[in-house]
Amino acid sequence: MAFEGLADRLQSTIQKIKGKGKVTEQDVKEMTREVRLALLEADVNFKVVKQFIAKVKERAVGEEVMESLTPGQQVIKIVKEELTSLMGGEESKINSADKPPTVIMMVGLQGAGKTTTTGKLANLLRKKYNKKPLLVAADVYRPAAIDQLQTLGKQLNMPVYSEGTEANPVDIANHAMKQAKDDHLDYVLVDTAGRLHVDNDLMDELKQIEQNVKPDEIFLVVDAMTGQDAVNVAESFNEQLNISGVILTKLDGDTRGGAALSIRAVTDKPIKFVGMGEKLDQLESFHPERMASRILGMGDVLSLIEKAQENVDEKRAKELEEKMRSASFTFEDFLEQMGQVKKMGPLDELLDMIPGANKMKGMKNLEFSDKQIGHVEAIIQSMTPQERMEPSIMNASRKKRIAKGSGRPISEVNRLLKQFEEMKKMMKQMTNMQQGKRGKKNKK
Ligand code: GDP
Repeated sequence: MAFEGLADRLQSTIQKIKGKGKVTEQDVKEMTREVRLALLEADVNFKVVKQFIAKVKERAVGEEVMESLTPGQQVIKIVKEELTSLMGGEESKINSADKPPTVIMMVGLQGAGKTTTTGKLANLLRKKYNKKPLLVAADVYRPAAIDQLQTLGKQLNMPVYSEGTEANPVDIANHAMKQAKDDHLDYVLVDTAGRLHVDNDLMDELKQIEQNVKPDEIFLVVDAMTGQDAVNVAESFNEQLNISGVILTKLDGDTRGGAALSIRAVTDKPIKFVGMGEKLDQLESFHPERMASRILGMGDVLSLIEKAQENVDEKRAKELEEKMRSASFTFEDFLEQMGQVKKMGPLDELLDMIPGANKMKGMKNLEFSDKQIGHVEAIIQSMTPQERMEPSIMNASRKKRIAKGSGRPISEVNRLLKQFEEMKKMMKQMTNMQQGKRGKKNKK
């Protein structure tokens, strides 16, 4: 996951100062030195680091800490606030035109993820805001880019406007605007050409499109994995075009995080979205405060709840909970529940959103790995429907067959069966306890 090294280092640094009843200038000096190194190692722009450290230092030796009853905590609060403001403070929203369609121009280097992100953004606009987008193929130099956008359009069941590779990108954008108006669409997403490097021809073409279609937003798509390069690219695009926001892709990779932490400070343009994977639903709004919280190991419960709301069917979840309480929960239900959790994303990412979960790393490897879940699923899938409903019928030959079918050792099948029975027992006890309590209350 991104930021892992930075998060580990910052967390161990702030841990040292956390419980201090008194924070001296020397403590602050030591802490900021470590924070500085951690940021530089995460490939954060050195000027940005310098300014950041100066701010933290100034505040950390100031009154808000010295006069606080919990100075250690106060210093951590300052680090978090400054990290949040470094990444842009408030979450920023998409601008929209007074009169539809709202035009968004997507720009960026080749390979940054521009076309994929155009599809993701269209998907998000429809899913979250119920808007109707038009995808526009204005990258006429790479036939593959047009095909790619058309494939995305098919996948999303959304219209794609294209005039092939012979037309002029400015004309394409203009004609697409007309079509969007005629068809009463809400958004026009123009996927422009990318190059391997920033060059003048490309910039001139982009400027012409900008002047013609007067976009409400120009999103610069940059690849977080390229670190400082991403920051340099952002700076050059920002000098030439009216960039309104940045979309940082591939934040799911093991990027050190430097780009995410420097871009706002260097370009003064907000990161609006982050790409968290190749799939079309893996684009997230960027929340600086939540990200700071995640980096500092304080979790991100809000995002977790949002993910659950988006992906888990609440009614069904309640039914499953009811089943667990009444101990009529079967392997079939168990499988379904695992599927719901999996829809929310990779488990280690979910764990990072739980405050303090980073301290349970050992547990993470033991109990929660996605691989392990895969094994459990394979075992359950090798059971017959009857076995899933009534695990009590399980005997040696059935277990052997399941082990063979799932490719897992028999000991693992046994362990799962045992854990399942224990879980049911525990749920029953808990329900009884709760009912007991309620009973007592009612008697009063
Ligand atoms: P373009 O040349 O800028 O249009 O880039 P593409 O949209 O073709 O993307 C280049 C590659 O990056 C493709 O293989 C995408 O699947 C991949 N990609 C894009 N966004 C993400 C992301 O957020 N995470 C990951 N892991 N891959 C991404």
